[in-house]
Amino acid sequence: MATREQEIAEIKKQLLKMREEILSRLQKARTEDRGGRDIGDEGDAAQDTISRETNIALENRDIETLREIDYALKKMEKGTYGICESCGDEIPIERLKVLPFARYCLECQEEFEKEQKRRGPESYEESLYQKEIGNFEDLFPEEED
Ligand SMILES: [Zn+2]
Repeated sequence: MATREQEIAEIKKQLLKMREEILSRLQKARTEDRGGRDIGDEGDAAQDTISRETNIALENRDIETLREIDYALKKMEKGTYGICESCGDEIPIERLKVLPFARYCLECQEEFEKEQKRRGPESYEESLYQKEIGNFEDLFPEEED
């Protein structure tokens, strides 16, 4: 049986791998954007807009995931990973394996979701992450030409 620490170390490995994949994908997307595209006929342009919007949506999702990863990694550094942010109890490792970004134990999560339903679908994410993580531009250090 692996200890909790070993399990968390394993999750960390996965997160780091995931982080690398996302970063290289994002960086690739940026490079392609910078390179520009040949301007084709109208049909191509329309198609291009659609695929660009899809790309942006995907990119946003990647950035969101990246935030989650960095947030979790930061907590691993501080030794607060896997501890419910609401009640301070340990989040069961089984839950963390399925949801490596989980910030709350199941009980608190359920409370939280109920609360959210009461308040409506307004985003709560920004306020939660932003003060912890800061600017994501930091992830892309100045490139040398
Ligand atoms: Zn809790």
